[in-house]
Amino acid sequence: MDAMPKDAGYDAVVVGAGPAGSMAASALAAEGFSVLMLEKHREAGVPLCCAEAVSLRSLRLFLEPDPSWVAARINGASLASPDGTVVEVAWPGVGVVLERKLFDRFLAQRAAQAGAEVLVNAEAVGLVIEGDMASGVSVEKAGLRETIACRLVIGADGIESLVGAWAGLDTRLGPRQLHSCAQYLMAGVEGPADRVRFWVGGELAPGGYAWAFPKGQGRANVGLGIEGGRAEKVKPAVYLERFAEKHFPKARVIETMAGGTPAMGRDHPMVRGNVLLAGDAARLTDSLSGAGIAVAMASGDLAGRLGAEYLRSGDRGPIDDYPGRWWSGPWKDLKYHHRVRDVFLKLSDGEMDRIARLLARILEGRDPSRLNPIDVAKTVITSDPGILALARHLL
Ligand SMILES: Cc1cc2nc3c(=O)[nH]c(=O)nc-3n(C[C@H](O)[C@H](O)[C@H](O)COP(=O)(O)OP(=O)(O)OC[C@H]3O[C@@H](n4cnc5c(N)ncnc54)[C@H](O)[C@@H]3O)c2cc1C
Repeated sequence: MDAMPKDAGYDAVVVGAGPAGSMAASALAAEGFSVLMLEKHREAGVPLCCAEAVSLRSLRLFLEPDPSWVAARINGASLASPDGTVVEVAWPGVGVVLERKLFDRFLAQRAAQAGAEVLVNAEAVGLVIEGDMASGVSVEKAGLRETIACRLVIGADGIESLVGAWAGLDTRLGPRQLHSCAQYLMAGVEGPADRVRFWVGGELAPGGYAWAFPKGQGRANVGLGIEGGRAEKVKPAVYLERFAEKHFPKARVIETMAGGTPAMGRDHPMVRGNVLLAGDAARLTDSLSGAGIAVAMASGDLAGRLGAEYLRSGDRGPIDDYPGRWWSGPWKDLKYHHRVRDVFLKLSDGEMDRIARLLARILEGRDPSRLNPIDVAKTVITSDPGILALARHLL
């Protein structure tokens, strides 16, 4: 996965070998363009901070699950509200928990097999900008700096992205526009091996939630995210320690992780000139859940395909259209999820308990795969006058 950059430059440089970058590089290489994907770490997928769950429906837009990078198959979920009300949902085949270090490596290999060059231990440190167009990427590798010429740049450099800022875009995240997270990989975790579990509550995880996602052999990702602004007072690691002691007293921590997920939801810049952002770099995640793996894959793929159209024709129309194409496509409901998060941030524990009881009633005996989440949200809102007062604008 390591090659020397071509002196003549590349059609496209992709910064970051996460799911967004590898999908973009695959799409560009599959169209026959020369692509260099840069990764600042020594391999794709490491280090990692992720709970690794993805729905099969969204994964299958691109790939069939492969046992080599699937840690557990998921057949349902439960949600516990502050007073202990538990909503159980049986949903055979709803998703998987990935072994993401292997998954990210698989996606990078897939890009390489499609023809992309992958340069690891290589950090992008700036863009060469002429007018509003990038003509190259500055890269540091082994203490040496060089500039790689290109006609297109895709910034897939994750939540700490700088590519957008180098292109002149404002990609800053305010504290309320992110989830601040801490996670343990634990061994000896008791509980169902094929269910993802969630907990909500103001004391437990203010402005967020806690989770336990099984990874097979008694292992699980046990973590939580809180609203970023609240993390300034008490760090998520403190909440996590309390949560793990209470719910998993017999389990042992074998890895710790800390990170953040963007919760922008709308109006984030995605393109400037010939520089496109994808995945966390474009702040494209599900604001409500913090999920971003499938969104990163989808936005990376779209950015790569539109970038290929631009490289073929020289017409900037397709890349100028990238935000419009994204927000009118299959992921347009993310905007609604962001508005639901705004309401979620205002809920008291009592309101969360009432919502849990309503959800339990709504879901009882129903096939969850046939329900539209937005319709379920609307039914909850109209079923309780207090919730209606908070969330009337979501109807
Ligand atoms: C605690 C936690 C739990 C999560 N759980 C889930 C979950 O269960 N399900 C889900 O769907 N999502 C989850 N997410 C979100 C998910 O991890 C991200 O949305 C996803 O990884 C985004 O993919 P990406 O390709 O955009 O960025 P990343 O996966 O972050 O990849 C970016 C890559 O760019 C590289 N890079 C950065 N800067 C440079 C540079 N200058 N030069 C070269 N390389 C660079 C990085 O090293 C990295 O490899 C979670 C996030 C956190 C923090």
